[in-house]
Amino acid sequence: MFTIRLKNDTNFLCAPADTILIGAQKQNITLDYNCKTGRCQSCKAKLIRGTSTGSIDEVGLSDQDKLNGYILTCVRKPTSDLTLDIEDLSKYALEQVRTLPSKVDKITIISDDVVELQLRIPPQSNFKYLSGQYINIIKGDYKRSYSIASSNSNQNLVFFIKNYEGGKFSQYLFKEAKINDLLRIEGPIGTFFYRKTNKKNIVFLATGTGIAPVKAMLEQMDENHSELINKIIYLFFGGRAEEDLFWEPKFANIKVVFVPVLSRSDDKWNGAKGYVQDVVLSNDIDLTDSVFYACGSENMIKDSRELVINNGLSEDSFYSDAFISS
Ligand SMILES: Cc1cc2nc3c(=O)[nH]c(=O)nc-3n(C[C@H](O)[C@H](O)[C@H](O)COP(=O)(O)OP(=O)(O)OC[C@H]3O[C@@H](n4cnc5c(N)ncnc54)[C@H](O)[C@@H]3O)c2cc1C
Repeated sequence: MFTIRLKNDTNFLCAPADTILIGAQKQNITLDYNCKTGRCQSCKAKLIRGTSTGSIDEVGLSDQDKLNGYILTCVRKPTSDLTLDIEDLSKYALEQVRTLPSKVDKITIISDDVVELQLRIPPQSNFKYLSGQYINIIKGDYKRSYSIASSNSNQNLVFFIKNYEGGKFSQYLFKEAKINDLLRIEGPIGTFFYRKTNKKNIVFLATGTGIAPVKAMLEQMDENHSELINKIIYLFFGGRAEEDLFWEPKFANIKVVFVPVLSRSDDKWNGAKGYVQDVVLSNDIDLTDSVFYACGSENMIKDSRELVINNGLSEDSFYSDAFISS
């Protein structure tokens, strides 16, 4: 067994056969994670001391990240005691992942290629999650990940799901699904949720259905608005065409600076043009006094992380959820 040391004097033991993430989970220590396949960067950690080996390639890390000593805890196994510059998230009391039955309650078309799916879960199941987390929907012999688009005070689970040409779950949802169909869900999963901060600006970046967990977090912030006095909340929501921007923030208690962004706009569009990450930079936000939450395509997340960190955001103030394919 090797000793893994984290920030704030947290230690745990990890077997050489386990990844650091699995080793931590076995000891009831919660580390940041999402995809668990070395692609999304959520479990990125700076290795301060020690050696480790990768079980699969860390495609989520750039060459520069590797040179700077970063590793991904979901694929790395210790080969010595380690010291990592990351924290234990156990204080957030994440729920255990469970598998539950659910039924299709409602399917609403909200744009050319996105539907809102509502699932009903047995009330006695007492399913709890943190707004921003995701679940796996299990259909027969395959499963797909979807972020819950409703805050955790809702009874039913709401999702925004895009139609991928030829996709297995897309085919089911867009062509065959019926009310009361039985689907199993597995969750809650991931560590993409709002964390209290001393920073002034809370900046959300979303592309496409990546708006789902952001909507859930904003709803929760609206419910707990008294914690957000003196904060400025920004939402940069990007799509190709206007119909991709199928949701906008309207809240009773919080004010959100909403910047819709189109990458393939026509002449009628008066709003921001280009990619969300570039538009953020042109908005004169003090990045040294900001935290970022980004959700959507892998490319947007990689590019925006690099851009905002190069322009002053502290490395540990960027949280993300990449919608990578299974
Ligand atoms: C943590 C997480 C949360 C997610 N949340 C959501 C969500 O809230 N809403 C949502 O719409 N999707 C979300 N996704 C993506 C989702 O899990 C599936 O990948 C997507 O719905 C496609 O599934 P499918 O069965 O229709 O297609 P598949 O049968 O898996 O794939 C068919 C083809 O579609 C293309 N494709 C599939 N997925 C993607 C993708 N994500 N990006 C680009 N091309 C792709 C590929 O070319 C693939 O070969 C999330 C993914 C992750 C990892």
